[in-house]
Amino acid sequence: MKTALVTGGSRGIGSAVARRLAADGYRVAVNYRASRDRAEALAAEIGGIAVQADVSDSGQVGKMVDTVLEKFCQLDILVCNAGVAWQGLLQDMTDADWRRLTGVDLDGVFYCCRAVLPGMIRRKSGKIITISSMWGQVGGSCEAAYSAAKAGVIGLTRALAKEVGPSGITVNCVAPGVIDTEMNAALGPQALAELAEETPAGRLGRAEDVAECVAFLCSPGADFVTGQVLAPNGGLVV
Ligand code: NAP
Repeated sequence: MKTALVTGGSRGIGSAVARRLAADGYRVAVNYRASRDRAEALAAEIGGIAVQADVSDSGQVGKMVDTVLEKFCQLDILVCNAGVAWQGLLQDMTDADWRRLTGVDLDGVFYCCRAVLPGMIRRKSGKIITISSMWGQVGGSCEAAYSAAKAGVIGLTRALAKEVGPSGITVNCVAPGVIDTEMNAALGPQALAELAEETPAGRLGRAEDVAECVAFLCSPGADFVTGQVLAPNGGLVV
């Protein structure tokens, strides 16, 4: 049975990805930081495991990957999905706010990739999917740190794809538009309705729209696709 680790799998896009990969026959490890009940319920539902770690802490990431490898023996797929947002003027952002955001959204991707690569390189096989954002492609006002981290994720994806391609590993990125999850709940119903109206597809994205893209990049049909950015955004950024 093929295996996958989905970071930030307890809610939102990550939980849709975990469900989708399980439906495709993967045994899935659902990482969470705080939402233990939700991660454990999801793991029970899909026949996977829940594993706690703050991805911004390299020690915790190392232990998480060791735990998953002990249970699953190998990892075929890594989905770096865990992320946090911060909205506000750049001049109001503290050093701690900046470090927290980039620690989760960019350092976390580095730590997770680094931890799973030795096993994948040994087996000359593996697929890594990173989750960026349209703001990493075009920059979002009042989201400078988020945009910087998510642009960094795209750069990391492209560089790593070149580095590990000869080892039989693909590395691709999914850069969603506005997706209806708890991350955007703070924007409020009116702003969300306006964003839906601005989107050529006429609606907000669903977590399942993103999960479909991830599932494709994990599939054998995407074996020759690497270093690419796939953007489920309803046409908001083209
Ligand atoms: P969400 O609903 O807020 O869920 C975030 C997930 O990340 C939760 O499972 C959370 O787990 C986990 N997480 C947060 N900090 C973590 C940490 N330090 N270590 C491990 N897990 C952590 O967000 P979402 O909308 O599903 O977003 C998922 C990803 O898609 C993020 O990378 C986000 O930037 C990206 N994205 C989202 C949108 C959007 O419109 N929603 C658009 C583009 C890109 P706990 O609850 O256990 O903390």
